[in-house]
Amino acid sequence: MKNKHLPQRTCIACRQIREKKALIRLVCAENGVVQVDMSGKKPGRGAYLCPNKVCWESVLKKNRLDHALRTKLSDHNRQMLCGYGYNLLEESQVWTTPNPD
Ligand SMILES: [Zn+2]
Repeated sequence: MKNKHLPQRTCIACRQIREKKALIRLVCAENGVVQVDMSGKKPGRGAYLCPNKVCWESVLKKNRLDHALRTKLSDHNRQMLCGYGYNLLEESQVWTTPNPD
């Protein structure tokens, strides 16, 4: 049995490599507005993030999304993306190794 080769991408926040479909794609449209690309197929420069708050907050706070997409997020755009990230699961804990003491 051959393993299918699944496309993989790196989260720009935590640098974890995951299957492309497990990440959320953000795309910078021609007008400079960064959008969440649920289809994963929109044209434009893309960046990938884990579907968890921690990664979103980390890139939005540190302007790393701007860097990755070579754009300058407007305040409005940033708030929109923060809002999206805010609705994501806090269940990043599922992925980060719990460290019960
Ligand atoms: Zn991540």
